[in-house]
Amino acid sequence: MSKFWSPFVKDLVPYVPGEQPKLAKLVKLNTNENPYGPSPKALAAMQTELNDNLRLYPDPNGERLKQAIADYYGVQPAQVFLGNGSDEVLAHAFHGLFQHGKPLLFPDITYSFYPVYCGLYGIPFEAVPLDEQFQIRVADYAKPNGGIIFPNPNAPTGCLLALDAIEQLLKSNPDSVVVVDEAYVDFGGETAITLVDRYPNLLVTQTLSKSRSLAGLRVGLAVGHPDLIEALERIKNSFNSYPLDRMAIVGAAAAFEDKAYFQQTCQAVIDSREQLVAELNDLGFDVLPSAANFVFVRHPQKDAATLAASLREQGVIVRHFKQARIAQFLRISIGTPEQSRALVEALKVYLG
Ligand SMILES: *Cc1c(COP(=O)(O)O)cnc(C)c1O
Repeated sequence: MSKFWSPFVKDLVPYVPGEQPKLAKLVKLNTNENPYGPSPKALAAMQTELNDNLRLYPDPNGERLKQAIADYYGVQPAQVFLGNGSDEVLAHAFHGLFQHGKPLLFPDITYSFYPVYCGLYGIPFEAVPLDEQFQIRVADYAKPNGGIIFPNPNAPTGCLLALDAIEQLLKSNPDSVVVVDEAYVDFGGETAITLVDRYPNLLVTQTLSKSRSLAGLRVGLAVGHPDLIEALERIKNSFNSYPLDRMAIVGAAAAFEDKAYFQQTCQAVIDSREQLVAELNDLGFDVLPSAANFVFVRHPQKDAATLAASLREQGVIVRHFKQARIAQFLRISIGTPEQSRALVEALKVYLG
């Protein structure tokens, strides 16, 4: 606190990202990064871009990347928005689409950045409880609201909401923007981008940080009706005209174009997830059904915080949230088969 701060700064409650430890030898299963590297074609495109042209500003609209995404999903470039990570895209969506004075609705168990953005932009919100199985019940969202947002699959549960349920939500809230945060959709979900032409109130966000293994590059996107995209562009051009640098634009475009590598690495993560779920079940864990690159698990006899501490002592880090309803769960990112083996060995040591 300092007299130089704008007064609202002292009341901000910032997001706390998962730890990025300096120790290289840890088995890092705490922030849902992809265990496989980015597409070699994306890396090559970025290496080529590393030249004298860096003295010039990048394309403020990232047209090269918008076109690659539009081609990938069969939409128009005017339906695509780009940002410096999907967190920035989400921030602009909160700022530009959710400030209507009525409460924004999102699940009680969800991505913990949503209430942070509400705090930053002064947006009232209401956390809508997931059901007993940690599923979203769309009927619970049929109440006056200033917008709706949820990840699909949800985080940190990994649970998927079916497309027809999303459609129902869109139909019963025609006067609200519904944002579907598809950070993990490529690991077993079905994208709602197929619905954007029919629902002008739908905005779908995605990131290249998880399924395309480019968390270090910071690229996110949104797809929706051009009117929604225009609001985001107006905010972006009032904030930072160049959110994506030259490397990010070409690297992300090449990543979208390299479908073979993308499919192969997503499938490897899915296969590892199914294998790990079976092993965790054998060890007595309850595992929520996951369509993501992580699993959300609880052991009926073991305290989650103690378990996480034991894993850490053995060089394996996972994520524990000190939050009501989920304090006895651990979120474990899907790593390589070797990392899974290290995790299971460490769990066996603890469970005895
Ligand atoms: C990881 C994640 C994001 C943020 O992704 P970035 O593009 O890296 O900013 C957004 N939403 C959810 C639910 C996430 O898990």
